[in-house]
Amino acid sequence: MKTQVAIIGAGPSGLLLGQLLHRRGIDNVILERRSGEYVLSRIRAGVLEQGMVDLLREAGVDRRMDEEGIPHDGFELAFDNRRVRVDLEGLTGGKTVMVYGQTEVTRDLMEAREAVGATTIYEAENVQPHDLDTDHPYLTFEKDGEICRLDCDYVAGCDGYHGVARRSIPEDRIKTFERVYPFGWLGILSDTPPVSDELIYANHERGFALCSMRSKTRSRYYVQVPEDEKVEDWSDERFWDELKARLPDDVAGKLVTGPSIEKSIAPLRSFVAEPMQYGRLFLVGDAAHIVPPTGAKGLNLAASDVNTLYRLMVKVYQEGRTDLIARYSEVCLRRVWKAERFSWWMTTNLHKFSDGEDFERRIQQAELDYYTSSQAGLTTIAENYVGLPYESLD
Ligand SMILES: Cc1cc2nc3c(=O)[nH]c(=O)nc-3n(C[C@H](O)[C@H](O)[C@H](O)COP(=O)(O)OP(=O)(O)OC[C@H]3O[C@@H](n4cnc5c(N)ncnc54)[C@H](O)[C@@H]3O)c2cc1C
Repeated sequence: MKTQVAIIGAGPSGLLLGQLLHRRGIDNVILERRSGEYVLSRIRAGVLEQGMVDLLREAGVDRRMDEEGIPHDGFELAFDNRRVRVDLEGLTGGKTVMVYGQTEVTRDLMEAREAVGATTIYEAENVQPHDLDTDHPYLTFEKDGEICRLDCDYVAGCDGYHGVARRSIPEDRIKTFERVYPFGWLGILSDTPPVSDELIYANHERGFALCSMRSKTRSRYYVQVPEDEKVEDWSDERFWDELKARLPDDVAGKLVTGPSIEKSIAPLRSFVAEPMQYGRLFLVGDAAHIVPPTGAKGLNLAASDVNTLYRLMVKVYQEGRTDLIARYSEVCLRRVWKAERFSWWMTTNLHKFSDGEDFERRIQQAELDYYTSSQAGLTTIAENYVGLPYESLD
């Protein structure tokens, strides 16, 4: 089998890249380790930056997003039993975000790919990249017990944090940067109306909480828990009680509770691999970097890498601009590190790091008070939250 761009992984990065390339006449094949149903069963991100929304439009998958997605022009920070609104639209000259679940984005992209007849091979086992530092890289994989080979011009490693792409770069050619936080997020999904029209990020002495949503009838809530916490120890009742205890009184009083339809714990980590390319392999999305979800940046960073690689590939195939290939990593990383910084800042100032750290708590409160009482501070938060601009390649 032969293609121009071989894509490892059918998460949002791989599917979005595949769709954009296909629309510009660049042939690609996606190899995915799991089944399509499994990929769709993962409940993850839900806030899309304007840049990602525009990219989904360019990929032709905007119909359902426009019907069902909820544009948000602000969000709230809660601390000291009070709430401060960050007016995204007003502070950024009209930019907003869209609440539309990662599962829905993935479903739309899968359907679009199927409609155009592009190839995705699900349950492709033991995918292995070869000869990445030559002009003729290829992948091998196992499908239904047979060993198959996919020849290509370029490989896009869109296979997430645990994938094979990053691990296939020689150790002396890659450097990683990491911070693991001593807590995770316990999240539940419930078919209850959201407590507020806008997201609420709460700093509380018992720990962080987030009120989010997927639609007008489906809510997503999180509470910070210790890193070794077990999801089985959290009944729905215990979750709702803890959430209420961490929200300002007026919000807690309005909270509508109900049975959870999903409950899971996600660890929090900051991670970056540099450079994001090796020979003809490009790392995209979670394969290259992870952010704690506090700034809603993970999925959006994946989209900005896709934007860079997609435009690069178009220039390579349509204008012969192979000179731009060397710029991929540097262009991506400038934006990646800024999103890492914002996610770290939000995480650092909204979570409880240890018991009895009164100094740390006072500094957090001063930080939040300072940023939210200054127009410059609020603007800084808003422009990072809606997403920094995508950088052009040339
Ligand atoms: C539990 C959880 C909660 C999250 N919550 C949020 C949130 O609230 N907000 C936010 O912004 N971000 C969140 N994120 C991050 C966000 O979901 C990711 O940034 C996003 O999924 C990245 O997309 P991706 O396509 O790069 O990687 P992934 O979504 O990880 O997709 C990678 C794909 O590659 C496949 N794959 C892996 N290894 C191989 C292999 N060897 N061969 C073939 N295929 C392979 C995987 O099966 C997967 O389908 C969350 C992530 C997790 C894990």
